[in-house]
Amino acid sequence: GPDYVRAIAPYQGGKPIAEVAREFGLDEAKIIKLASNENPLGMPESAKQAMLKAVADIGRYPDANGFDLKQAITAKYDVPQEWITLGNGSNDILELAAHAFVQPGQSVVYAQYSFAVYALATQAVGGRAIVVAARDYGHDLDAMAKAIDKDTKLVFIANPNNPTGTFLPAADIEAFLKKVPQDVVVVLDEAYNEYLAPEQQYDSVAWVRQYPNLLVSRTMSKAYGLAGLRVGFGIAQPAITDLLNRIRQPFNVNSMAQAAAVAALNDTAFLQKSAKLNADGYRQLTTAFDAMGIEYVPSYGNFVLFKVGNDDGAGARVNVALLKRGIIVRPVGNYGLPQWIRVSIGLPEENEAFIGALKQVLA
Ligand code: PMP
Repeated sequence: GPDYVRAIAPYQGGKPIAEVAREFGLDEAKIIKLASNENPLGMPESAKQAMLKAVADIGRYPDANGFDLKQAITAKYDVPQEWITLGNGSNDILELAAHAFVQPGQSVVYAQYSFAVYALATQAVGGRAIVVAARDYGHDLDAMAKAIDKDTKLVFIANPNNPTGTFLPAADIEAFLKKVPQDVVVVLDEAYNEYLAPEQQYDSVAWVRQYPNLLVSRTMSKAYGLAGLRVGFGIAQPAITDLLNRIRQPFNVNSMAQAAAVAALNDTAFLQKSAKLNADGYRQLTTAFDAMGIEYVPSYGNFVLFKVGNDDGAGARVNVALLKRGIIVRPVGNYGLPQWIRVSIGLPEENEAFIGALKQVLA
C-alpha cells in the first residue's frame, strides 16, 4: 500500500465506559463520560420513536438517496435537494471532500489545533498538509489565506473549532471566502453551530449560493443527540455535491439513522433544551474554573479546553487521575496541547462530579 497510508496515526476517540471500568476496577454505572462532545440528554424521544418504527423495515435497503431526510433538510435550510450530500456522520463528508478534490502531492490547508480528522482525511489521499499556526488557540484566517499555494485544493475551517472551542465571526469568514481562489474548495465545518447564541448565528447557506467553492458541513451528532447513529450532511452547489455523491457509498446512511434524523431535525423543542442545558453547564464549569484559578479557552461549543499544568506530562497525568475517579475526559496531547484537557459539558450533576474530582486531583 501507499507509504502515506502507512504513515497515518490512528484517530483516538474518547475511552469507552466499559474499558475504563475494567481497567480501573470501577462500577460502569458510576462512570461519567465527558470525553466526546456528546449530548448529555441522549437522543430526542421523537427520534427514538421514528427509529423504532424504522426497525420494521430493516430487511430492506435504506433509501440510497435519502429522499425524506433531504426533504427535511431542504425545508429547514431552504436549499434544493441537489445541494445536499448525506454522510455517515459528518466525518464522512470531510473524507469525501478530500477524496473528491485532492490528489497525492496536492496540498490541504488547515489550522493548528483544529479537528483531528482534517489531518487524517488529508493523509488518507496522500495530500500535503499545510498546517497554519493558531492565533489565540483559533484559526488565523489571514495567515491561512496567505498559506494557500498553487497546489492547494482544499481548506478546512471549523467554526466553532474543536478541541479549542474558538469562534470566527461571520465577517471574518466572508472576508476569507472573498480571498480564496475559486478552484480551492473551502469546507466550513459547523459541527457545533447549534450551540451558538442567536447574536453569533450567521447565514452560511447564503454564502453557499454566492461561493461555488464552499461546502458547509453539519452533523446530527452533537446538539441533535444522534452521535451513535452517524448522520451528517454537506451543503454545496451541485458541481461539488455531484462529485461527492459519485464517490460516497451508495447506502452510507442506514434506514434507522435516516428516520431518526428527520424526526430530530423537526424537533426544535429538543434543540432549544439542548442549547439551554449547554449554556447553563458552560457557566457552571467556567465559574468553577475561575474560582479554582484554572486557565481555559472561552468556548462556543459543548466542551471547554482547560489547562492542568505547566509541564508536558500534565494532561496525561491528570487524565489518569480523573479516570481513577470514574471521570472520562479528553487529553489533547495528540493535538499538540499536552498541558491541556478538553471536557464536554454534561448534565448539572455530571459537571458537579467532574469539578469535585478535579479539585481532589489538583489539590
Ligand atoms: N467536525 C468537528 C469539528 C467535530 O468536532 C466532530 C466530532 N468530534 C466532527 C466534525 C465529526 O462528527 P460526526 O462524524 O459525528 O458528525
